[in-house]
Parts: sequence; structure tokens; C-alpha cells
Amino acid sequence: MTVRTRFAPSPTGYLHIGGARTALFSYLFARRHGGEFVLRVEDTDRERSTAESVNAILEGMTWLGLDYDEGPFYQTERMERYREVIDQLLAEDKAYYCYATREELDELREAQMKRGEKPRYDRRYRDFTGTPPAGVKPVVRFKNPLDGLVVVEDAIRGRVTFRNDELDDLIIARGDGTPTYNLTVVVDDMDMRITHVVRGDDHLNNTPRQINLYRALGVEPPAFAHLPMIHGPDGAKLSKRHGAVSVVQYRHDGFLPEALLNYLVRLGWSHGDEEIFSRAELVQLFDLKDVNHSASSINPEKLRWLNQHYMRELPVADVAAELRWHLGQLGIDPDELGPKPSAIVPAYVDRVHTLVEMAEQAKPFYQDAVEPDPAAMAKLDASAAMVVDALIVALEDDAIWESSDTLEAAVKGVAKTLDLKLGKVGPVLRLALLGHTSSPSFGVILELMGRVRSIQRLNAFRDRIGA
Ligand code: GLU
Repeated sequence: MTVRTRFAPSPTGYLHIGGARTALFSYLFARRHGGEFVLRVEDTDRERSTAESVNAILEGMTWLGLDYDEGPFYQTERMERYREVIDQLLAEDKAYYCYATREELDELREAQMKRGEKPRYDRRYRDFTGTPPAGVKPVVRFKNPLDGLVVVEDAIRGRVTFRNDELDDLIIARGDGTPTYNLTVVVDDMDMRITHVVRGDDHLNNTPRQINLYRALGVEPPAFAHLPMIHGPDGAKLSKRHGAVSVVQYRHDGFLPEALLNYLVRLGWSHGDEEIFSRAELVQLFDLKDVNHSASSINPEKLRWLNQHYMRELPVADVAAELRWHLGQLGIDPDELGPKPSAIVPAYVDRVHTLVEMAEQAKPFYQDAVEPDPAAMAKLDASAAMVVDALIVALEDDAIWESSDTLEAAVKGVAKTLDLKLGKVGPVLRLALLGHTSSPSFGVILELMGRVRSIQRLNAFRDRIGA
């Protein structure tokens, strides 16, 4: 049997971290077993589904490299098929029209609550044979078995048992004829030959109803795996406050897809106490049985740590390509002026945790001129002018431009000749070149800036500080 999994988002918002993790686990499980991964867009809620949301989901999947073998399928394109199955269930007496009005149902609920009972539909039209009331557009309800148990053998949670007499006769078509989620999901998973349904455990209560539907349709249900929730660092349900933002937002915030993927997989899955997993390793190691039973919490610091790790470990060209994108976001075209992004990466990788921070710190290399930080300027003393002059003289010597080491030595030489501490020279050089005083070594920033522009900036700085 070929393993087939799917990711089935409703396009009513962006692809958030929980959805992305569900997608990742479904994807990994399929890849691990040499199976197939299907993308299905559950867009039957026409009021809440938007094209932007579909695009955000597709963009997020692409950025994370969660490639699918089939799809995207859209449920709105399968309406005839759902109708066919609803008609089949009606014809086989496995479903029925229910004419109860909203008022009737409200009344029923109130009476049940008054009696201290759990409110639910009382199956009043299940065996109805009379003349239907006029003017009511009936819903279609599924004839759920009246007794017995439904056992869900969940790949993560183990055995979960439900009593049929606790389950309502589910609405499978609304008054306007449109199918409901529990119907469409079963028809699709059946038609798409899904073998393993991996989804959030907010759907666990739907599973026994769906299993009953499969049985009514005469097919064996797929295996199920319900993923535990993701919580905020404070243990509360994940919300926007915790940065439950779209996956694409993580890109804008300077994270690499490899880091986010590694971070996501550890939200609920573990392999010993290892933290770092490449995609290839994940495909080899991932198994649903190793998914935790309890909720996991997001940990923003860990994501930053992983991101720095991947900025160091991935081929420089790959990281540089993402940096180029971030520079573009700042309106910078590195081909016009300044060093190649691939030269920035090794120089800055140990100093930052995100590509946004890297692009921000590298910005002065790509500008025509810099405005020095006034607070740092105020700390300079009378030696600054002399330091600038001596630096200009030293940097005019071609010989020292051989490497960052020779440049570093030249700057140290200036301090020595002037009999000043390096602490009097460094800030001047950094302010002149970059406008601030925190940077990689002198040799590295000089090399990145280049001879002509370094001397230009020192001259401009000299003019600024005057005599
Ligand atoms: N469309 C459902 C959702 O986004 C998922 C349904 C499923 O995975 O079965 O919550």
C-alpha cells in the first residue's frame, strides 16, 4: 500500500505556525514511507475563504519547500461529486431530510437545558414518513448508528473510544444544498485514496462521525493521527500575541526556511535529545509514533538560535540569496554599489540571529554616505581629527590592501604610532565608515568597504569634525 497523506487547509487566513506544522508532519510521513503528499484547499465556506489566503498558503508551502505530489485540489470544484454522495446516502436510506426550523431547534435546546440535559438534536425527522411542512428548506442529516462504540486507533494518542448514542445525526448538507465539512472531508479523503489523516487534535471529535460516514459508504476509514496543540511560551493557547503569525511573516522577520522547518518539527516531535535535523535526516527519522502526546510550547529564542546555526552551516550562496532579498526589502540593490552579499554573510553571521539584523547592519556598505550616530560622536575627544588624518595616510598605501589581516595590522599600527589606545582609533574608524561603533574587525569592514570608499568616508568625516 502506498502511503498517501494530505494537507487540507481552509483558506480563511494565512498559513500559521500550527497549520505549517501539520503540513510538515503530513509531508514528512509521506516522504519517510516513499509515499505521496496531496494538497487540498477546503474552500467551501465561500464567505470566509479568500484568494489572498490561498496565495499565502501556497507561498508558505513553497518557501518551506513542502512540495506536494498532487493538487492543489479545490473543494469548490468538486461540488457535483459531493451532491452525488449525498444523493447516494439519501437513496440508500442512510441519510434523511430534516425539516426542523431554527425556532423548533432553539425550543428543543432550551427545554433540554432546563432539564439539565446535554442539548442535541432529537432525531425527530429520522424516521419521518409524513408530508413535509411547506416552506422549509430541509437540511440533510446522516443516520448515525444509534448504539455501539466507535473506536479511533489514533497513531499518536492511542485508542480513543466514542459512544454512538453521544453523537448527533450530523448535518451533511445545508438548507441551500451545500455540503458540510464532515461530508466533504470524507468524500475527498476517500476519492483521493488518503491512507493517513494527520491533523490538529481540534478535529478529534469529528473523527468518530467521519468513521461512521466511511462505513456507511462501504469503505475502510484511513488511519488517523491527531497532533497535540501548540501553546505560547507562557503555556496559554497560541494567539497573535505570541506571534502566531503567518509563515511568510517569518521570512520577512529574517528567518531561513531550514531554520523554521527544524523549529517546527521540534514542536511535538523528538528524536533523543537532538535539536538539529536536516530535511534529509527528517525524512529518514520522522515517525508519528515519536510525536508527543502533550502540547508543546513555542520558544522564540530557540528559533533565533537555530536560525543562526543555519546561517552558519548552509552554503554561503544560499544564505546570500536570502540576504539579497532582505536588502531588496530595504530598497538596496547590491549590484549597484557595495560588497557582494556573499561577502557580508561570513563577516556578520556570528553577530546576528536573523537576516533582518544582518541586512540592517550591512546597510551602510550600500549607501552613498552615512550619518554618524550623535551619541557616539559626543564621546569622541580631541584626538579624533589626528586619528582620521593618520588613518587616511595609512590607507593610501596600496600594500596594506592585500588582505583583511594586513588592513587590521595597519589600523593597529596607526594607534601605535600615535601612541593611543586602540579604543581611541576603533570608534573613529567605525563611525566614519559605518556611522556606528559596533562592527566586525577593522580589517573586515575596510575590506568590505574598499579602498576608494573607505578613504572617501574618512575624508567626509574629517570635514564633519572640523579642525
Ligand atoms: N480544513 C480543516 C482545517 O483547516 C482541516 C480538515 C482536516 O484536516 O481534516 O481545519
